Amino acid sequence: MTAITLRDLAEIGVERLKGVGDKKRAALDAVGITNLLDLLTTYPRRWVDRTNEARIADLVPGEEALVLVTVRTVRKRQTRNRRSMVNVNVGDGSGRLDLVFFNQPWRERQLREGLQVALFGKVDVYRGGLQMSNPIVDLIGDRTGKIVPIYPQSEKAQINTWEMAGWVEETLRRCAERGIADPVPAEIRRQHGLIERSAAFTGIHLPEDMRQKELARYRLAFDELLRVQLVLVLRKRTMERESLGIAHIVDGGLVERFYDSLPFPLTRAQQRTIAEINADLAGAHPMHRLLQGDVGSGKTVVAVATMLAAVQGGHQAALMAPTEVLAEQHAASVRAMLGDVTVPDPGNLFGDRPLRVELLTNRVTGAERKDVLAGLADGSVDIAIGTHALIQDAVDFASLGVVVVDEQHRFGVEQRAALRAKTVDGAIPDTLVMTATPIPRTAAMTVYGDLDVSVLDEMPPGRTPIVTMWADGPLMERGVWSDIRAEVEAGHQAYVVCPLIGESEKLEVASAEETFERLASDELAELRLGLLHGRLSPAEKEATMDRFRAGELDVLVATTVIEVGVDVPNATVMAILDADRFGIAQLHQLRGRVGRGEGASTCWLVTQQSDDDTTADHPRVEALVATTDGFELAEVDLELRGEGTLMSTAQKGRSDLKLASLRRDRALVELARAAAFRIVDGDPHLAERPDLADELDLIFSDRDEEFLAKS
Ligand code: ADP
Ligand code: MG
Repeated sequence: MTAITLRDLAEIGVERLKGVGDKKRAALDAVGITNLLDLLTTYPRRWVDRTNEARIADLVPGEEALVLVTVRTVRKRQTRNRRSMVNVNVGDGSGRLDLVFFNQPWRERQLREGLQVALFGKVDVYRGGLQMSNPIVDLIGDRTGKIVPIYPQSEKAQINTWEMAGWVEETLRRCAERGIADPVPAEIRRQHGLIERSAAFTGIHLPEDMRQKELARYRLAFDELLRVQLVLVLRKRTMERESLGIAHIVDGGLVERFYDSLPFPLTRAQQRTIAEINADLAGAHPMHRLLQGDVGSGKTVVAVATMLAAVQGGHQAALMAPTEVLAEQHAASVRAMLGDVTVPDPGNLFGDRPLRVELLTNRVTGAERKDVLAGLADGSVDIAIGTHALIQDAVDFASLGVVVVDEQHRFGVEQRAALRAKTVDGAIPDTLVMTATPIPRTAAMTVYGDLDVSVLDEMPPGRTPIVTMWADGPLMERGVWSDIRAEVEAGHQAYVVCPLIGESEKLEVASAEETFERLASDELAELRLGLLHGRLSPAEKEATMDRFRAGELDVLVATTVIEVGVDVPNATVMAILDADRFGIAQLHQLRGRVGRGEGASTCWLVTQQSDDDTTADHPRVEALVATTDGFELAEVDLELRGEGTLMSTAQKGRSDLKLASLRRDRALVELARAAAFRIVDGDPHLAERPDLADELDLIFSDRDEEFLAKS
């Protein structure tokens, strides 16, 4: 007798259960439950432990508590101001408690006499007795047992939690004889202390005690994460197996000369990261590596070292940036870094020639463009820096060996893929993806699951940490302007970042112009102000930036165009207006424009106090004030936004993580990833584990798989 698989369960409709007729079937269907697998993976959202909840006699006025009670009487009234009011009296053998519900007339129908309910709320004393007003109510019905599962209930669906519990119980009872199949190798289960799957399904729905429920949750959450990781690892290994890469020479003279030319020693993090990259470069498979590093952590050096490894072996390298401005800045800084570095050239009388770095964006046109394109095609351009223009079909590389993609904080999946397609005799270039948005490690494992991850978690020495302050309301804002005037007085410079206006660049520009006018005529009237926004011509932008760099401007009023790449060490103060409208990552990027020199720097986050609410909650602003550590901020960001933003929003199928949380289950993500590698590396096609393969097939639609692979 073989055990029941998840696929078996998925093939049995809920109408086979007792008490599920057309009406209930339709109701279940409306909440996405059509078969027994759906049912078993609809987990309780809470568990009420009868032995552990407070009794009415123990309730303390002023405190919140959970009590399990029986409904005695229900009465509906209208208050003087015509609001509805439902008074309910409940008891539990130790005493009585009054409930009052305002504006919830339907409670009269819901709370019938004799019904068991779990209540959560704050206890008050009212007219000498205990009372809870508008408590949270969970119906328990007539379910017995020490622990009562509470399922997600919806008024509309007309399914209550004890019906759900009853159907789940029936399903589990029917599975009991054959058991539910467990495709996770016993060895992995043992190693990680995972209970069997049959026991886990029982333990999560009908636990004997809370510990059993926890063990069950742990096991089932592991399964969810293991399935995601298996898809990613299978895909990663396939890509590695099927694609031929270039084995680069990593310890040649060119890279050495580059290190020698740097005015500083590499940080330990840079050394470690470069070693990780070198191991990939030297290997026969193409590298797919993510380099995470906070703003200013020194990613450029790592990128240049990576590109030089390609050049050293006679190949070319490309660096792709998300915007033209950024591409231009990269070109400038890479050229500056490689100023005196030469490449061996056997065809040249002197034995070497200068390294050729070229910029290719849509702004490079005419004869200049032709020249660059020709150089890429004949191999005389060693390093190409550009935007997505670099991957247009018309661009031919003689031998592209390394691609560095600077994504900043946009994940350009398609672009990455297109660049990889620029193969050399079938060999795929090694790819390094850089991001300045720190992503918590476990989230990175899922979001960038097919990439290896390196982290620059150490800042170059000699920085003074940025002090971040929150200026809430007009009074404090005035302090910001006087701080800026004082800094300028002391010979420093400042940025003012204009409010973010939704999606419209036009509105944003208008707002920037308005801010500029206001500051120029009022708060900062005596200073030299410049304005920078996305609608200026490249020449205008460049001219303004040049003047700011040269110290001819004191204050740069700008939109988020300064978010990336702008590097003026003399700028020591920044004010971000309407800071609460920006995301955490963006604020962090913006703040990274100051604190780049020796001087102590300040970042002011300005918010407008609203009239009605003087204690407005700005958790993102508070997070920025609390820390400058990008990884810590990334964790907060994940916390605030939830995980939904990490996984695709389109991906709402069975593959959703129902129990596992990338936040709470960090350790489990790592275990699942390690287990996935172990399974796949021992059995690359899951040939010996058809049960596991079948489960992946069942759980992930093609679309999910594509999404996971592409992210
Ligand atoms: P990122 O691209 O990660 O934001 P950059 O590569 O632009 O950071 O580096 C920021 C600054 O730090 C640059 O001015 C760079 O020259 C400098 N830098 C990089 N590595 C080091 C190092 N090991 N020691 C000192 N300064 C460094
Ligand atoms: Mg390689």
